[in-house]
Amino acid sequence: MTMPDLLALQIEPSTFCTLRCPTCPRTAFAKHWHNIHFPLAEIDKVAPLAARAEIVLLQGWGEPLCHPEIDEIIRRLTEAGANCALTTNGCLLDDKRSEALLEAGLAHLTVSISGATPETHAALRPPSDLHSLLERMRRFRQLADKMGKKPRLTLSFLQQDANIHELPEVLALSDRYGLDHCLAINATYLPTPDHAKQYVKRGLRTAWATKRAFWKAIWSGREYTPAQTQLRERDVCANDPLRCLTIGADGSLSPCIFLQLPLKSRPPQHPPLLVLGNIFQESIEDIWNSPAYRDFRRAFAIRRQLYDELHEEILNSDDQKQKTLEAPDRINRIFAANPVPAVCRQCAKMQGL
Ligand code: SF4
Repeated sequence: MTMPDLLALQIEPSTFCTLRCPTCPRTAFAKHWHNIHFPLAEIDKVAPLAARAEIVLLQGWGEPLCHPEIDEIIRRLTEAGANCALTTNGCLLDDKRSEALLEAGLAHLTVSISGATPETHAALRPPSDLHSLLERMRRFRQLADKMGKKPRLTLSFLQQDANIHELPEVLALSDRYGLDHCLAINATYLPTPDHAKQYVKRGLRTAWATKRAFWKAIWSGREYTPAQTQLRERDVCANDPLRCLTIGADGSLSPCIFLQLPLKSRPPQHPPLLVLGNIFQESIEDIWNSPAYRDFRRAFAIRRQLYDELHEEILNSDDQKQKTLEAPDRINRIFAANPVPAVCRQCAKMQGL
């Protein structure tokens, strides 16, 4: 079976990092962590697939800018025809690095923050400084203008219970610094049971912050993508394993980044893992077509098909009102009869978070 064109191909450039975020598995499993860079010599193996993907996401469990040849990776992928996006904590984004990324053809830069005040941000992303980070983004834009490049700049906010009240101010920051897009995402990866406390709690405080952020976005005219806070089971998660995949810095291929961790030894407790092959040893196509990978995707494909058929049936029905009323029960029955693979059952992404 030929592989379809992917929506997103995620590549982990490095598992090194400059920060010690409490939300990150690198912090939770520090003693077991394997610090490595994706070998530049292997990048040609992914280039043909990268060229057919809508977007190549250069991000993983480490900081991509720690990779000493990240600009060369971007250059080779871009020359092959890929549309490269990189997500960074911004700490290493100095002028020299910015120019190299722009020169290499980076199409989209996202900088992640965890607060709109230096105190909150530093507490959740130690030892990062919010002001210098935003100044680096401003500088990146100036350099891009000087070089005649037009990269898209996104400010990404990892919303948690400890910082949700600052969400509206994040929108204001993105406006003040002239960024193209503001994105809010939930802290959905829970490397240990203790991490569940980071979830945004539903209630008045969250609803108020979300509403104010929404109005700030309208007022400023900035593009804003909010994060869901209502739980609703999905047919397929947002990381869509039918059209997306992740390649780790050591060549491991998984349906998504949540299902692999760069560990040199196994901690006693860790989230479910699923590595379906290694691209340094076999072709991506062979891994994609392996029975285990086909089985994994089949579970999602069936749910999507039944879900789409139900929608179609409602749309074509003469009694749409009644069919719509019955739909939630029917959807629940479809999902119960066709569960996702075991490694995905506890994943917050399946609940739309
Ligand atoms: S449900 Fe979660 S673990 Fe499974 S593929 Fe989606 S994001 Fe990954």
